[in-house]
Amino acid sequence: MGTSERKPFIAANWKMFKTIGEAVAFTEALQKEVGILADREVVLAPAFTALAAVRKVMALEGFRLAAQNCHWEEKGAFTGEVSLGMLGDVGCDYVILGHSERRHIFGETDDDVARKVAAAFRHRVLPVLCVGEKLEERESGQTTAVVERQLEVAIRGLDPSEARELVIAYEPVWAIGTGRTATPEQAREVHGFIREHCGRLFDKDIANTVRIVYGGSVKPENVDALMAQPDIDGLLVGGASLEVASFRRIVQFVKL
Ligand code: PEP
Repeated sequence: MGTSERKPFIAANWKMFKTIGEAVAFTEALQKEVGILADREVVLAPAFTALAAVRKVMALEGFRLAAQNCHWEEKGAFTGEVSLGMLGDVGCDYVILGHSERRHIFGETDDDVARKVAAAFRHRVLPVLCVGEKLEERESGQTTAVVERQLEVAIRGLDPSEARELVIAYEPVWAIGTGRTATPEQAREVHGFIREHCGRLFDKDIANTVRIVYGGSVKPENVDALMAQPDIDGLLVGGASLEVASFRRIVQFVKL
């Protein structure tokens, strides 16, 4: 599979922003402005409270729904948690897993993320697996070692048929919400490493099929340069996904 066959994946991670009404208004306005998308996927990840309402107004081809987290157990006494069965029930196509805010604010471990990834495949809610190094790790030359460990723990137990459906988000922690974007070359370098490593863990065909998206201060001003890189198959966007105008421009990136 060549680069052009990996459908661009552009996701809005709304984090703990937007009421139900705001999320619905955004979804309706974006669809109206962007129209049907045959050549890319646009993924909206509202808070749990707005998932059902956003699903209801998501009408156009190319639009997909994602949750921002989940628990790996099927059901049980886990106050405050949401299962994959529940996310499938509300109509989620994807679930964001291992986001750096989950890892570094809420103490999620690589093993937790691995359990969630496996559970997500069991329920056919496809995981968007986030990996990425902290600033001190980059500065001490550990970027690839960190990414390799996060990746390996999370995906080594997958079947090849599952692995090919993965979306991996490379999100350097120092670039998230900081306004400091990785340069297209820095991002390309790590994306290339991730693809090669998927080849080592599975095979070349799977490595070429997996979509690897970049996240970290993506904005209308840098979207086209990032999407021009051969191994960048899409974007995970936080801050700039909160306004329709800026997210629309990101969705409508121009292939340079
Ligand atoms: C994110 O939360 O995944 C993210 C990339 O945030 P931001 O775009 O604000 O850096």
